[in-house]
Amino acid sequence: MKPNMKRIPVREQDPKVRATNFEEVCYGYNAEEAQAEASRCLNCKKPKCVAHCPVSIKIPQFIEQVKLGNFAEAARIIAEDSSLPAVCGRVCPQESQCEGVCVLGIKGDPIAIGKLERFVADWSRANGIKLADKAPSNGIKVAIVGSGPAGLACASDLAKLGYEVTIFEVLHKAGGVLQYGIPEFRLPKKDVVEAEIDNVRALGVKIETNVVVGRTITIDDLFDKEDFKAVFIASGAGLPKFMGIPGENLNGVFSANEFLTRSNLMGAYSAEADTPIYTGSRVAVVGGGNVAMDAARTALRLGAETTIVYRRTEKELPARVEEVHHAKEEGIDFKMLTSPVEILGNEKGWVTGLRCIKMELGEPDDSGRRRPIPIAGSEFDIEADVVIMALGTSPNPLIANTTKGLETNRYGCIVADDLGATSRPGVFAGGDAVTGAATVILAMGAGRKAAAAIDEYLKK
Ligand code: FAD
Ligand code: SF4
Repeated sequence: MKPNMKRIPVREQDPKVRATNFEEVCYGYNAEEAQAEASRCLNCKKPKCVAHCPVSIKIPQFIEQVKLGNFAEAARIIAEDSSLPAVCGRVCPQESQCEGVCVLGIKGDPIAIGKLERFVADWSRANGIKLADKAPSNGIKVAIVGSGPAGLACASDLAKLGYEVTIFEVLHKAGGVLQYGIPEFRLPKKDVVEAEIDNVRALGVKIETNVVVGRTITIDDLFDKEDFKAVFIASGAGLPKFMGIPGENLNGVFSANEFLTRSNLMGAYSAEADTPIYTGSRVAVVGGGNVAMDAARTALRLGAETTIVYRRTEKELPARVEEVHHAKEEGIDFKMLTSPVEILGNEKGWVTGLRCIKMELGEPDDSGRRRPIPIAGSEFDIEADVVIMALGTSPNPLIANTTKGLETNRYGCIVADDLGATSRPGVFAGGDAVTGAATVILAMGAGRKAAAAIDEYLKK
């Protein structure tokens, strides 16, 4: 029988309504929809989808169980390779990974692998399915710096092998970008992020928050005073970049990291918060990645007219297609081929606008994308009370500066091999701390590889 080439659509909150609230945009599949979508899968003998999943989830096997209605078994299969399925089902760029190579995508719609993963994870949580037991301890202590996806994935795999794992986290809540960066309307904190972190805790992983590794305790102390036998650095890339244009120190200029952290972690989206966030009535967001979309969509929900300023065209936007689509539906204005040259302010030091210049695309640069070139004399002003810079981030130098023998590259990223081994024996690193900026699933893949390498190292 020929498979249905059309994907089962997923229900979403109406764009006009959701533009005014922080509730989740996508409702996900119900059981009937999930089974119908799973029935389209060809259960390929050599599944390309698995080869393109950085944590190698057994995709056709779990989809087969969804098709049969065995949702608990589907959850168990996913749990063998992923500790954060409800997170990944929501935020992974499946279109460029598993779904991007699904054979059904050649002539029709690829299987909605992410939406199926999300359904299984949500169903399993709602039905209280226990996925893994705590392994007997081998008495060997491993420390992890940072509780983002890289740290959590590494911690889960090591705990399953019997290691006594402690994660040290500088913030008061665990989760890294999942907690402080990605907004509630894409990734609910209590029901999804915190629930999946609790599953990691249930494996025996300890998470100590409010610990600044490099200040409260150094990596050398972890070895010498606390008897840890290996350390995995998964401290991410939380240091924001700016453009270096005039006006960047005016009141009303935020890095996207600060803006999103205030909103997500400190509840500043609520007028009741101790430090409610200031947006004024017009916000300009500079950048074109997921971070820019998240900042813009947060500002919109806080009541501001919001414009995204990006120096290339829509084709080069690095954000997920789904995020761009959602942002447009919600009413965000996109100014493409536009780059800021100055942030304008009043005599009291507050932002009043953004002076921009029009760009055109020239020859491809090192990234393979066509280089944007300013068009002389095309400057124009955009009115704005707040400007949010979403231009990328790099790792905070604190850990590298306080750890003996740790090599970093010219971008401040920790140098590590493919398995996470650094220049210092016993110290491993992965995720954004090594790559500068990647994705949740790549960070998890790095965490899993490092767990295997740490196990090898400690067995010697
Ligand atoms: P992080 O998630 O950054 O976690 C690092 C943790 O280490 C943090 O909790 C930090 O507080 C802690 N830490 C740092 N220094 C110290 C220290 N000295 N001591 C103790 N703890 C420390 N990816 C996607 O796949 N899909 C998306 O839709 C997506 N959207 C994104 C939206 C935003 C706003 C941002 C910022 C990123 C987004 N990403 C997305 C990228 C993705 O979230 C990251 O690649 C991923 O979180 C990296 O994981 P990590 O574990 O390496 O680091
Ligand atoms: Fe199913 Fe697509 Fe994977 Fe084949 S490639 S097993 S059709 S999800």
